[in-house]
Amino acid sequence: MTEIPFIYDLDISDLRQILADLGEPSYRADQIWQGLYQQYWQMPDEFTTLSKTLRENLGNILRFNALRPVQYLVSSDGQTRKTLFELPDKRVIEAVLMKYDPSTHKGQGRRTLCISSQAGCAMGCVFCATGQMGFKRNLTSGEIVAQVMYYARMLADQGERVTNVVLMGMGEPFHNYDNTMAAIDRLNDPDGYNFGARRFTISTVGLVPKIRRFADEKRQVNLAISLHAADDEERSNLMPVNQKHNISKLLEACRYYVDQTGRRVTFEWALIAGVNDTEEVARRLASRLKGLMCHVNAIPLNPTTGFHGQATSRQSADKFKETLEQAGIPCTIRMRRGIDIQAGCGQLAGSYLSL
Ligand code: SF4
Repeated sequence: MTEIPFIYDLDISDLRQILADLGEPSYRADQIWQGLYQQYWQMPDEFTTLSKTLRENLGNILRFNALRPVQYLVSSDGQTRKTLFELPDKRVIEAVLMKYDPSTHKGQGRRTLCISSQAGCAMGCVFCATGQMGFKRNLTSGEIVAQVMYYARMLADQGERVTNVVLMGMGEPFHNYDNTMAAIDRLNDPDGYNFGARRFTISTVGLVPKIRRFADEKRQVNLAISLHAADDEERSNLMPVNQKHNISKLLEACRYYVDQTGRRVTFEWALIAGVNDTEEVARRLASRLKGLMCHVNAIPLNPTTGFHGQATSRQSADKFKETLEQAGIPCTIRMRRGIDIQAGCGQLAGSYLSL
């Protein structure tokens, strides 16, 4: 049995072909594209620019709703919203919207969306709920796109837009490289959603060959590396991927990326009390990052049930930042968001699956 294509998996050229096969003029594809990405229409009935017959035909040959929201949680301060989606094969993934107060972005605050690239994850980082779940499968490009369009639609109802998308939810985006890039390219299309490449951030555990490929492609997309430790033994304990791609090889690839693109790298650092939040670790980190155009984003650990580590204290976080900055490495301490709705990656899916 052939599977019914999911509409968000299609490029405009695929749509043109489908419309041609139906004996429809090519501009119908543009109407559908605009309906999807500019009007945020979701179901065939909403495509009022098309005839009823064509809408019915499309409804028969294409799947419009491959992501079914099964849980929607809002944090107590109303600023973080998390949706758990069920996929057609019953896998579940999650995406989180984080709102920030109005400040910079055209009269609205930042609306940062954290999306998933895989159901589950093969990387096995010990502090991560998704890693504890194991790998299920890659998401299609359309399943990645659809997470963004779900929130785009929700925000459009309030006269707002998504301002940033981070691939930091479930999964390792570079382990699903082609589908991730196809999704970014589709969302980037000026005739569609027109979401700027510079507004995307890919977060990776450090798959070295993929970082080099990404550098060679000279994309405008931001690169973030989950680093979390300054020596190999410590990092391998937290992130098994380090046994294959150690810190030296990883930082070499980062230097290559900066040389190729002229863009800085962000290092993500989950501050775990007594493990990687000390002044000594900060000094070691600073010496490894010396001369590299980079920024360290440190965030107190979001505790998960499967990992005994605890979040750092505010005091230790501030000292960590100060030590790095004295050594010339810019550092920001981020706030943890949505703790009350399990907004750390994979936490909601994990609790849903164990129900
Ligand atoms: S932190 Fe990211 S890469 Fe590591 S297990 Fe979790 S989802 Fe996978």
